[in-house]
Amino acid sequence: MSPSSPTTAADRDLYDVIVVGAGPAGSTAAHDLAKAGRSVLLLDRGGRVKPCGGAVPPQLLRDFDVPESLLVAHIDTARIISPTWRTVDIPVGNGFVGMVDREVFDEWLRVRATTAGVERRIGTFTTFTRGEDGVPVIQYTDGKSRHGESRQVRARMVIGADGALSPVARQCIPYAHKAKHVFAYHEIVKSPVAGQEANFGAARCDVYYQAPLSPDFYAWVFPHGATTSIGTGTLQKGFGLKDAVSKLRAETGLDKVETIRKEGAPIPIKPLPQWDNGRDVVLAGDAAGVVAPASGEGIFYAMTGGRFAAQAVEEVLATGNARALRLARKRFMRMHGPVFAVLDIMQTFWYRNDNRRERFVAICRDRDVQELTFDGYMNKQLVKAKPMAHVRIFFKNLAHLTGLATA
Ligand SMILES: Cc1cc2nc3c(=O)[nH]c(=O)nc-3n(C[C@H](O)[C@H](O)[C@H](O)COP(=O)(O)OP(=O)(O)OC[C@H]3O[C@@H](n4cnc5c(N)ncnc54)[C@H](O)[C@@H]3O)c2cc1C
Repeated sequence: MSPSSPTTAADRDLYDVIVVGAGPAGSTAAHDLAKAGRSVLLLDRGGRVKPCGGAVPPQLLRDFDVPESLLVAHIDTARIISPTWRTVDIPVGNGFVGMVDREVFDEWLRVRATTAGVERRIGTFTTFTRGEDGVPVIQYTDGKSRHGESRQVRARMVIGADGALSPVARQCIPYAHKAKHVFAYHEIVKSPVAGQEANFGAARCDVYYQAPLSPDFYAWVFPHGATTSIGTGTLQKGFGLKDAVSKLRAETGLDKVETIRKEGAPIPIKPLPQWDNGRDVVLAGDAAGVVAPASGEGIFYAMTGGRFAAQAVEEVLATGNARALRLARKRFMRMHGPVFAVLDIMQTFWYRNDNRRERFVAICRDRDVQELTFDGYMNKQLVKAKPMAHVRIFFKNLAHLTGLATA
C-alpha cells in the first residue's frame, strides 16, 4: 500500500497515524492530525504523572491555544544562587513564567485531542514490525505493564512521542540508543504557607548553581501553588541526587514541609541527528532529544516538535513523498537550533566548576543579560533588536573570562 492510498472503513485496525506516547508532544501531534481529518490512534501506557518542574513560557499558551486558567502559579522572579550563596533576583519583566501541574495539563491536552477526533487507548508499546504489505504494525500490551495481553494495530505512519529513552526511537531510528541524558530527580512537597518559610517565594523560582547540589547542571525550587517541586539533575552517573535534594531542603528549611511524592526521570540533552526512518516513522519531543541545554526546558519544545512531526506526516500522507518526514527536524532546528547552540555553550562553559558558576551568577546581575535572557525565554528567539546590548554583554563576558572583572 502506498502512503497516499486512503484508509477504508473496512480497515478497522488500520489508522492513518498511530502516535505512541500521550505527553505534550504526542497529544499535540495527534490533535493537529485529527484536525486535518486524519484517523489517529493515541497510545499511552498511562498510570504515571510525568516528573517535571512544570515551568512554561507564555509563548506556549499563545502558540498552542492553552488557556491561562491551566496555570497553577504565575512566576514574576527568578532567583539564582551562587556557590557562595550570593543571590541575584531577576525580574521577569512585563510577563510571567507559568507553572503547570503535569497531571492536569497533560490530561487536558489528551482530552482536547479526543475532542478533535483522536481515538485514545491505554497500552504499552512493545515492538515495531511490518506486515507483508510493508505497512507498520505496532504491538502493544493492554494496560501499563509489559505483561498484559499482547495486541497489535496497523497504521500508515507512526509518530514516536514516547519520551526519553523512547522504545520507538530505539527500534526504528539509527543512533537513537546513543542519546545522552541528564538524570533528574525531584520531590513534590506541600508548599509552605505565607511567612512560614523565609527562603521560599510562592511567585519565585529559585535556581541553585552549587557543586554539592549539582556538579554540572542546577538544582531548583519551583512553586506550583499548593505544591512545590524541589529537584536537581546531573550528567554524572553515581552522583547522589536524593542526598543533594535532602541537603537543599535542609538548607532552605523546606525539610519541615510534608513530602507528597519522590520521583526521577532522564532528560535528553541533545537533539538526535536523525528523527525519521525515511519511510513512515518520525519522532517528537523527548524521544527526539529536544530539551533545551542548560535550562532543561522541554514542554514547549515537545509541543513544537509534535506540531512539526504532524505537519511532516500530513505532507507524506497527502503527497506520498516520504522524504517530507525530514522536514520535522529541519523546521525545528531552523527555528530553535541557534538558541540550543548558545545554551549548549553556556552549559558546557559556565556549569563546569564553582569558580565559573560564581562568575556566571555575577554576570547575571547585569540588566542587559537579564533582559536578553528573559526575552529569549519568553519569546523563544534570540533578540536581534538590541545590538548594543549584545556588544556590551560580549565585553562583560570577556572581562569575566579573562579575570579582569571580579565575581
Ligand atoms: C525532573 C524533571 C523536571 C523538569 N522540569 C521541566 C520544566 O520545569 N519545564 C519544562 O519545560 N520541562 C521540564 N522537564 C522536561 C519535560 O518534562 C519534558 O521535556 C517533556 O515532558 C517532554 O514531553 P514529551 O511529550 O516528549 O514526553 P513525556 O512527557 O515524557 O511523555 C511521553 C509519554 O509516552 C508514554 N510512554 C512512554 N513509553 C511508552 C510505551 N512503551 N508505550 C506507550 N506509551 C509510552 C508515557 O506514559 C508519557 O505519557 C523536566 C523533566 C524532568 C525529568
